Amino acid sequence: TQELHIVGGGMAGAEAAWQAANRGVQVVLHEMRPKVKTFAHQTGNLGEMVCSNSFRSDDDEQNAVGLLHWEMRAAGGLIITTAHRHRLPAGGALAVDREPFAQTITDALTSHPNIRISHEEITELPEDGQWIFATGPLTSEALGQAIAKETGTDRLAFFDAIAPIVHADSIDMSKAWMQSRYDKGDTEDERKAYLNCPMDKETYDAFIDALLAADKTEFHEGETAGYFDGCLPIEVMAERGRETLRHGPMKPVGLTNPHAPEIKAHAVVQLRRDNALGTLFNIVGFQTKMKYGAQANVFRMIPGLENARFARLGGIHRNTFLNSPTLLDAQMRLRSRPNIRFAGQITGVEGYVESSAMGLLAGRLAAADLTGSTLPEVPQDSAHGALVHHITGGAEAKTFQPMNVNFGLFRPLDEPVRGGRRGRKDRYKAYTDRAKEAWSGWLDAQEAAQAAQ
Ligand code: FAD
Repeated sequence: TQELHIVGGGMAGAEAAWQAANRGVQVVLHEMRPKVKTFAHQTGNLGEMVCSNSFRSDDDEQNAVGLLHWEMRAAGGLIITTAHRHRLPAGGALAVDREPFAQTITDALTSHPNIRISHEEITELPEDGQWIFATGPLTSEALGQAIAKETGTDRLAFFDAIAPIVHADSIDMSKAWMQSRYDKGDTEDERKAYLNCPMDKETYDAFIDALLAADKTEFHEGETAGYFDGCLPIEVMAERGRETLRHGPMKPVGLTNPHAPEIKAHAVVQLRRDNALGTLFNIVGFQTKMKYGAQANVFRMIPGLENARFARLGGIHRNTFLNSPTLLDAQMRLRSRPNIRFAGQITGVEGYVESSAMGLLAGRLAAADLTGSTLPEVPQDSAHGALVHHITGGAEAKTFQPMNVNFGLFRPLDEPVRGGRRGRKDRYKAYTDRAKEAWSGWLDAQEAAQAAQ
């Protein structure tokens, strides 16, 4: 049978190799380190964690990341089981002793009878064979160019500029309202495409003061080149002048507040729908380098967002990623070249956990193609399914930015659970119960198919 080539031995590539090899597929894993380096990786090990040593929450009943942990464990995931093996005490978070972690991953893959490791940089998208590209946020330059040539330069980003994303149900609609500027649009939906939060002068001034005073993250060396024109961080705009934001993303023109039609807002913060379900909204133009704690405090000063829950906070990073909603099919294959899959952060997910989860799926999907078995569709109610569905179809393609897993990506519950903090706990538990059942069913079907072969 044909070999499976996987490019990149980070979180996603390591997991994809493990999953495919365990399904009897011969895997060649191409990793450019240590010969070719990135600015963030320090070693030649597979599965190196480039920055923090945290896999975030391990709570599989109340947290969508913890649920991904659970699902990966159920699927025999190499990354997650190794993380648990080298766990450090960190309360509810899964913190990892990074060196033995990466060493164990490297040993497991190197000694696997179905895996061969080849230390080389791949610089082209091959015409033949089955491939998974999992080259991550710091994809090498030559390969980045080859991908851009295939996808068009406007569909491969080299930086992310993420505006914070808010859960719709945490926005106070007694203060906010839906309206597009100057009521533009042909349909009622388009005329009400934006959610608006008004500010009076006093609130605006306090907001600018808070922005200027907030703790910010420094850029890495080599990170800033060439991106500043398109997407200035809001705090940089505020530094240029106290009125800059009021004439930029916060301009109040063309909008009428139905809660107080006689009062002209001094500034307006606009939010735009971020997914087809309408459960998530991003704050337009609010990409930022503020530290996470500072962001939540500053953004909750916005009228209507006092109790906002954030599906993800803002950021700006060096990050190579595809416009997956337009480029990839539901099986993570490049539509224009179905012999090529993508996995990991380059598909527009964000984080160690999400990247390894997308590696797990790509590894299993590719193995099924190579062994001639058909996999049932990845269930959308599972955390893996919700995430892959978001990047390959559910997300707005025009404004697509990398995404963390969160409950806002899940299909609403058939029987809504409501009512305050207690209600939220019950709702999250209901999401995770539903997800576990769906995921277990998907894994069982594969076991049964394999046993029958
Ligand atoms: P990676 O883990 O980066 O793996 C990609 C692999 O591909 C690398 O080993 C690379 O050497 C190799 N490669 C690249 N190009 C080629 C090529 N042409 N040929 C062969 N091999 C190639 N996430 C978090 O969850 N927490 C954090 O604290 C965090 N901090 C980050 C800090 C920085 C500076 C950056 C850039 C990213 C950070 N991330 C963080 C995101 C993190 O990179 C991803 O979550 C995760 O590592 C992505 O997994 P991946 O497998 O997609 O990519």
